[in-house]
Amino acid sequence: MITIAIANQKGGVGKTTTAINIATAMAATGWKTLLIDLDPQGNASTGMGVATNARERSSYDILVDEISLDDCMQATGIPGLDIVPATVDLSGAEVELVTVDDRTARLANALSGHTDHDICFIDCPPSLGLLTLNALGAADTLLVPLQCEFFALEGLSQLLLTVERVQQRFNADLGIIGVVLTMFDRRNRLTDQVSDDVRDCLGSLVFDSVIPRNVRLSEAPSHGLPALVYDHACAGSRAYIALARELIGRLPEQRKAA
Ligand code: ADP
Ligand code: MG
Repeated sequence: MITIAIANQKGGVGKTTTAINIATAMAATGWKTLLIDLDPQGNASTGMGVATNARERSSYDILVDEISLDDCMQATGIPGLDIVPATVDLSGAEVELVTVDDRTARLANALSGHTDHDICFIDCPPSLGLLTLNALGAADTLLVPLQCEFFALEGLSQLLLTVERVQQRFNADLGIIGVVLTMFDRRNRLTDQVSDDVRDCLGSLVFDSVIPRNVRLSEAPSHGLPALVYDHACAGSRAYIALARELIGRLPEQRKAA
């Protein structure tokens, strides 16, 4: 299984939207896919249609009580896509884990040796705290959604610094598979400017596919459906399908599903 953390410490940049829709696109392509919601807000869980009262076991149980992955995941309505939901309890996990020795390794421990899925996406919270560190400790690589706005690059340097520290301390092999520009608005000149700057600065790290600002993407979660199911033909869904294709192209050969 290849594990991809979707992280950016800024809120509202499209992490959850990307997690839900790329996971759905991968499952639709035949990859057995696992989505782990690691944000106490539980937006990925809600967006996948897992009601709060249906989250009997969650990512909190994995991190704090070391309950096994198998016991915490559940099927979604989408074939080939399972989810570990999140509950508000998770906001307490950072504090509860502070005195624990292997506090940054809890998720990595739970995922290690898991072969039932081909690929796993982790939807991170908007911070660089212990939850995101667990995701970075468990991940093979990182996918960074970047919103096309003025301060986009500023936050990124802080994230890259954290990645460097994680590589030095507990996950030497952590990579960055790419940066995806989100909420791209063709009619906005600032968007173009930011996009050019980001590409100048990060080069081929930036995916060619961009995710347009698209109202269907923001409507879908209120129906508890990925946009790819809610309206598979909308511009947002098509962009996530293109992104998934590009992502597969960047995965190491030996990790690609048969
Ligand atoms: P994050 O997880 O980084 O906080 P979200 O994915 O939750 O970000 O997105 C923040 C808000 O913007 C949500 O209301 C979401 O529906 C909306 N949104 C995300 N991506 C798009 C997009 N490409 N077009 C329109 N709305 C979007
Ligand atoms: Mg989110």
